[in-house]
Amino acid sequence: MIDRNAAVLTIDLAAVAQNYRQLADRIGGAQCGAAVKANAYGLGAAEVAPVLRAAGCRHFFVATLDEGLSLRRILGSGPQIFLLNGLPAGGAPDIIGADLVPVLDSPPEIEAWQQFGRKGDIPRPAAIQIDTGMSRLGLTAREWQRLIADGDSLRRFPLALVIGHLACSDEPASPHNHQQLALFRRHLEIARDALPAGTPISFANSSGIFLGSDYHFDLARPGAALYGLNPMLGQPNPMRQVLRLQGKILQVRDVDAGTPVGYGATHTCAHPTRIATIGCGYADGVFRALSNQGAVHLGDHRAPIVGRVSMDLLSIDVGEIPAALVQPGALVDIIGPRQSADDLARAAGTIGYEILTALSARYERRYLPAG
Ligand SMILES: *Cc1c(COP(=O)(O)O)cnc(C)c1O
Repeated sequence: MIDRNAAVLTIDLAAVAQNYRQLADRIGGAQCGAAVKANAYGLGAAEVAPVLRAAGCRHFFVATLDEGLSLRRILGSGPQIFLLNGLPAGGAPDIIGADLVPVLDSPPEIEAWQQFGRKGDIPRPAAIQIDTGMSRLGLTAREWQRLIADGDSLRRFPLALVIGHLACSDEPASPHNHQQLALFRRHLEIARDALPAGTPISFANSSGIFLGSDYHFDLARPGAALYGLNPMLGQPNPMRQVLRLQGKILQVRDVDAGTPVGYGATHTCAHPTRIATIGCGYADGVFRALSNQGAVHLGDHRAPIVGRVSMDLLSIDVGEIPAALVQPGALVDIIGPRQSADDLARAAGTIGYEILTALSARYERRYLPAG
């Protein structure tokens, strides 16, 4: 066998499908959509999205027009595809051509959609986002009030969805959650007459689903939990693990006490030990912040990362690990049974989302089928 890559990323599509079904069960009567932006959080939209659809998903969320066009090619016609980042300038013809649904985030976007969002004479559906406390995207309270005061403004195109987004849903105790929910409800209440009957409402991301049924409304939009990240940090993870990232040992050397390791010589071996060099680095999404911080596992044995992570390589101290396990060509777990993406993120001072979306195109990707 030719070793073309120095790392193997295994993605368990059956676990993705099971996570989808678990979330769908949890929200009961509401629909469960899926956020597959950023190439399904780095896991591969072409592989992941069809599995979600087969598991029952009918509503997909991406960020950009390009992502939406590509997802439409993957899924074919049928599922609704929402563009979370709004209506890009000049994007209406492509959006309509691919039957995508923009999430309109401002009065100018709404006006532009009223003007250009038609197929022939027929207005095409769009969603509207209301900002309830992130100051990121979506209509402010005043813009929303102005819009509903303006008579039939919510009836000039089919309103496919009204969405809000939680800022602190991964902190169940945060008062922001209740405050945002109360504000969102108030926005919907004052729009009761202006909103076409039956307009679907969406509020919860992954963590929002776990805040309780008050947060579910008609359609949830989980991403992270589908891919195995813990929606309730600090509590046991209810989701199935999806990823295994294994790096290959390229070289092993015995070193004396006092030997420096890596760029900047930031680690010096205190005792005689063995150092193994693994063929992945920060260009693969194994962040440089893991220098002298994280660890990898060989079976059940933990091997600390020593010295700086370089672009294509990192070093581990394997002095305590049975030599038989530490051979060139052997695989070590960077993400695996003993260390989740969330664990690795914590060691790197970041969140699991960033670990996933930084996963390298350089890895050999192996997809375990959904069944
Ligand atoms: C990314 C995103 C989601 C999905 O969030 P997760 O925390 O990954 O479940 C839902 N809604 C919006 C607006 C998003 O940007």
